[in-house]
Amino acid sequence: MQRIGLFGGTFNPIHTGHLRIANEIRERFSLDSIIFIPTGIPPHKDKNKVISPAHRLRIVELAVAPYKYFTVSSIEVYREGFSYSIDTVRALQNELGEPAELFFITGIDAFLDIRTWKDADKLLKLCNFIVIQRPGYGFAGLKRIGLPALQDVSSSELESLDKGERFELSVPLTEKYSLYLQHITPCDISSTELRRLIHDSKEVKYLLPENVMSYIIEQGLYRE
Ligand code: ATP
Repeated sequence: MQRIGLFGGTFNPIHTGHLRIANEIRERFSLDSIIFIPTGIPPHKDKNKVISPAHRLRIVELAVAPYKYFTVSSIEVYREGFSYSIDTVRALQNELGEPAELFFITGIDAFLDIRTWKDADKLLKLCNFIVIQRPGYGFAGLKRIGLPALQDVSSSELESLDKGERFELSVPLTEKYSLYLQHITPCDISSTELRRLIHDSKEVKYLLPENVMSYIIEQGLYRE
């Protein structure tokens, strides 16, 4: 059975943190591949600050081109209306078929909002979830969102992840699927900060792949 990671994001723009995370998670979970899925119209972001889906698709393609374990799906980019994770997971399950076990990868900052995602409870029964640490956010905050799956997880277990005293915690979601709360090497890069740096003509070397930066310059993105 193929173990496949699904890594969705606005990727506005994609940065080295995204690639680093994907690689670390691929190794840790022995994933056969990771599919990067740029969102079409993201429901949770200010759409005035987001460059077009076609540009974001292109920069993700450029970023993952050198890596044989990474691919890109345009499934959300060409979908009408907002992009909802539940629709994407269902569509990819149909497309990939039974021999694929899916792992939905997301940062803790995004997962803390899961209650606002469309059909969150149903989504959490559809596949495995890997929630990764991100500087500035804590797993302890999960206690407040009241997910049934986390009912039996104590605050001190979550805090021990935040303090680096343990590296992972897995919680069953269904008989088949689990939620993995995962420590990764901290990487404090964000697309927000990159947009600011590019806008202010500051140095961004090593924060995003060079071919992505060349494309951004060529197309005059993030200058407005
Ligand atoms: P923005 O700053 O515009 O909000 P972002 O840096 O969070 O963007 P996204 O494309 O929204 O980038 O991120 C895609 C996924 O990667 C999300 O689940 C997010 O939580 C996660 N992620 C992004 N950067 C990091 C990071 N440095 N550490 C851990 N997770 C990250």
